[in-house]
Amino acid sequence: MSTVAVYIEQREGIVKRPSLEALTAARQLSPHVVAVCISAPGDASLLARYGAAEVVTIEHPLLQQYSSQAVAVALAQYVRSAEVTTILIAGTAQGKELAPRLAVLIEAAYIPDCTELDRDEHGKLQAKHPLFAGKVIATMQPLTERTVVTLRPNMFTARAVESSSEPTITQFSPTLSEEDRKVVVEQVVRNEGKLDVLEADIIVSGGRGMKGPENFVLIEQLANVLGAAVGASRAVVDAGWRPHSEQVGQTGKTVSPNLYLACGISGAVQHLAGMSSSKVIAAINKDKDAPIFKVADYGIVGDVFEVIPKLIERIAALKQTGA
Ligand SMILES: Cc1cc2nc3c(=O)[nH]c(=O)nc-3n(C[C@H](O)[C@H](O)[C@H](O)COP(=O)(O)OP(=O)(O)OC[C@H]3O[C@@H](n4cnc5c(N)ncnc54)[C@H](O)[C@@H]3O)c2cc1C
Repeated sequence: MSTVAVYIEQREGIVKRPSLEALTAARQLSPHVVAVCISAPGDASLLARYGAAEVVTIEHPLLQQYSSQAVAVALAQYVRSAEVTTILIAGTAQGKELAPRLAVLIEAAYIPDCTELDRDEHGKLQAKHPLFAGKVIATMQPLTERTVVTLRPNMFTARAVESSSEPTITQFSPTLSEEDRKVVVEQVVRNEGKLDVLEADIIVSGGRGMKGPENFVLIEQLANVLGAAVGASRAVVDAGWRPHSEQVGQTGKTVSPNLYLACGISGAVQHLAGMSSSKVIAAINKDKDAPIFKVADYGIVGDVFEVIPKLIERIAALKQTGA
């Protein structure tokens, strides 16, 4: 059985949930899954709980500040030395940048944005990759010895294994030089302290029906009382009302929260492509024929400017009574 490695994305020592999803997906492919971290993980036993039999930490002074070039070079050296055949990477912004670089360096096939992963009857890897906003699903099989796959976040449920033991931890020291690293001049953290739609259990999204950026204060207040992340349709992102990091849909993020509440969003097919796998969908729209109601489990036909303040008031009151 070939070795499957999962690149573990961490921010300040905290493992990103999509990497745990990737570990879960890797278990379908191999009983021996290696979690590869840049510098020691904050919690190696967490990686074992999600299926890593082995944790490899790649250590080098030039990796102290993240640079996708340097990380790709270091990963490529590790992959070659350990004879890894399949590398799974969460399809986050970082993963989408890293994966093709790595694929080029190790001359591997690159399968992006995979939503299902399996082996065929001959044990060959096969991955599903949606095209045209999910209207076509391509089944892809690599022709190369090695494959790099990015997994669409929220498509694989992160599941802990029933019993896990402490993983073997090994260190790998790559050979890197300054040329392998692009210097990061400045890091701009735009949504510090805010929940990311990719990680949130509840998302409150606003669309053009909110009429202007100033009215998103209502979306933020509702998100706040619900402990939710704020999402947005592309129409409002294109209009400059909200940042692209909040965009849900075909050209934004794919989310799968327990509750997705769409406010003043029509439900265009490109928006649905990013949120229709949410567990519960609720919508507020003044047009009873809006397409969003076709996918919604709960719908309120009404004006967002009347409904949202009432919802905020009611939820805040319920929270006060501890309900
Ligand atoms: C290649 C491509 C990729 C795309 N990718 C994405 C993507 O990733 N994500 C995405 O979202 N879109 C995407 N789009 C755009 C998509 O087709 C729609 O244009 C967009 O989703 C519409 O956004 P909206 O629902 O906010 O606006 P609209 O379609 O204008 O809908 C506004 C809704 O608000 C309702 N409304 C108005 N006023 C009120 C009120 N006071 N109270 C309640 N309801 C009200 C209206 O009835 C309407 O249903 C893409 C398009 C293309 C061509």
